Order: sequence, then structure tokens, then C-alpha cells
Amino acid sequence: MRRISAHYIFLDGEIYSRPIVTLSDEGIIADIAINQTDIDRQPLTEFYDGILLPDLVDAHSHTELSHLAGAITEGGGFTAFARSMGEVRRGFTPEERREAWQRADRELWEQGVGAVGDICNGTTTFEGKQSSPIAYTNFVELFGLGNSSADPARRVAGEGIGAGLRCGVTPHSTYSLSEGAFADAVAERGEVPLSIHFMESAEEALLYRGEGEMAEWYRQTERTIDFAHYGSPTERIIRQVPAERDILLIHNCFVSEEDIERVESHFRGRVSWVLCPLSNHYISRTTPPAGMFLRKGVRVAIGTDSLASNHSLSMVGEMAALSAQGIPINKVLHWATMGGAEALGIEDRLCRLAVGRKSGIVTLSGLGREMEFTDATTLRRIC
Ligand SMILES: [Zn+2]
Repeated sequence: MRRISAHYIFLDGEIYSRPIVTLSDEGIIADIAINQTDIDRQPLTEFYDGILLPDLVDAHSHTELSHLAGAITEGGGFTAFARSMGEVRRGFTPEERREAWQRADRELWEQGVGAVGDICNGTTTFEGKQSSPIAYTNFVELFGLGNSSADPARRVAGEGIGAGLRCGVTPHSTYSLSEGAFADAVAERGEVPLSIHFMESAEEALLYRGEGEMAEWYRQTERTIDFAHYGSPTERIIRQVPAERDILLIHNCFVSEEDIERVESHFRGRVSWVLCPLSNHYISRTTPPAGMFLRKGVRVAIGTDSLASNHSLSMVGEMAALSAQGIPINKVLHWATMGGAEALGIEDRLCRLAVGRKSGIVTLSGLGREMEFTDATTLRRIC
């Protein structure tokens, strides 16, 4: 048996004071008590500074790009980033990639992440994931205007499933796939949702009008697009993705209230809006409109994106960035835990502190007097 206490605990969307959590020898939560007295002087009870949280969910990452840490210059804008990615992503040995991935996986775990929605373009992370304590949902991404079907991604997903991993096929975005390939990628009916990069830059919508840097780049490289007739990324999502599918939309820096309403009213499946504010800042100095999502009352989750577009894979930085936009702390914590778990469809099993459940326990410490994030705020796994 283990007894854990702290100043606060986060339970189902609210923060409570002076908790004691009792764990059985098997790590199952046997009891959660709040408003206890003398919590830092209880016998056989570990006491921690800050807030006790369940495992966090990094709802959008590309851990297989961990070897690209620092390889792409910051602030060059979205089209420049996409072009650089194509140039730098291959110049590393399998050993370098494996070591970088192992390091990222360990850091994610130690900093409290228990589940990741991870984009995969190949099989390089599959072996490591078989022995990782983190529950990965693998979105095998179809990418490239040259594809006419989803077969390349389907083959990779097949290997992952064969290795016992949770894998599904997903289209990369509304600007990087032909009609046929996109339709094929969304037609798969597994238990894994879709995870689509969406409105990360203003270029995406401009492309549908033949304007902007991305359209110019496509013209220079003689890539033809057959989807401009949809008129916008939102209309393409609505008309090409079956309404019953669960979907994660990633980034959302340039969505409007009308886009949110259009998408929310179309889907009968679960829609999750995933925000990665530090990646957006790294690539193009943009910010997702977090306050608008809060006002709309829609499901939000948080992602770190990748070490190619972020200084670290720590969720605390993303949470601090959202808090700095005025999002209340209990909402930030909800988005980082239950929001992500619901996005990945794992909320019945993971990432919730409740009697009878097995969950990791994480502390968020070093907050300021008003529970604001500071430079000293850290996440640390205690079990
Ligand atoms: Zn991404």
C-alpha cells in the first residue's frame, strides 16, 4: 500500500485541497480523500508540493522526428518549414534516430505523459513502443500529392498492428493529398480516430484560391491539385470525411467560429480540437485562438507536435502558453488530461484519478500564488 498527499488534487475538472490518495500494492486507487488535516505530517504518507494529476495526454506528436531537434530554424514561416522538412528528414543513421526516440519516450514518461497520439510515417518507432510504458495511439499518416491510394500507409499500419500496437491510417492534411488518396485514407473503419493537420497556416485556405506561398511552391514544383473545387479546407473536411468518424483536428490557428460550427454540426462522431501553441510559435510565430475554443465549449486537447518544431516535448510549456492566453487553470488541466484521453478514445481506461482505476500520478509544482504558471513550474511523475 502507498499513501500520497499534496497541497491539491485535480479530479474530473476541478481542483480540491489537501488530498490523500491510497494505492493498493497492485497500484489500483483504493481511496481518494480530500480536505484532510495535517497532510504533511501523516504517518506513512508521502507529501508533495503542488497539484496531483493523472497521467497527461500528449494528443499530437511526431516522436519519430525526435532526431531533428534543432535542425530547422525558428520563425521562417510555414511553407519554409514544410520545404526544410523534406530536405533534412533523411540525413540520419537508424542508430541516431533510435537513440533520439528512446530519449524522447523516456522524457515524455518522466514528465508525466501516459498516452500519446503519435503520427507515424514509417515503422522506426514500433519496436521501442512495444516496451514503452506510454500508451501510444499511432496515426499512420498518408502524405504526398503523388499518392493515388492509401496503400503505403495501410502497409505501415499493418506492420504496427502485427506488432501489437494501436494503429490506424489517417490523411496528413487537406493540402497534401489528392481527392482519391484522401478518400481512401478516411474510409478505413478501425477503432482509431483520424488525426488531420488543419488550418495551421493562412496558406492552406489561400491554396484553394490559387493564391499565397504554398500555391506558388506547388506551381514551381509542377504539382497539380484536384481539390480546389471544395473552396476551403473546412468544406473539404466536411465533404470528404464520413460524419460518423471520430476526428482530431490539429493546430487550428486560422479557424473561425463559423468553421467550428460547420465542423461540429457535421460530425456525429467525436471532434477534438488539438492545440500545439509552442510549435505554432516556433514555425511561424502564430498562436491558436484558445479563448475561442473555450467560449464555444468544444472538446480541446493539447499536443507538443515534435522536436523538429519545438524546443522540448514537455506538456508544461504548452499548458503555460495556454494559461498565458487567459485559459483558467482547471480548463488547462482538463484539456491536458481528459480532453486528450477523449480525443484518443482511451478515457475509459487511462488518464483519470478515480477509485478502482489504475493511473499514473503526476505532480504539477512551482505554480505562483494565483496558481499561474511560472518559470519554476514543472511536471514530475511520482508513480
Ligand atoms: Zn504535426
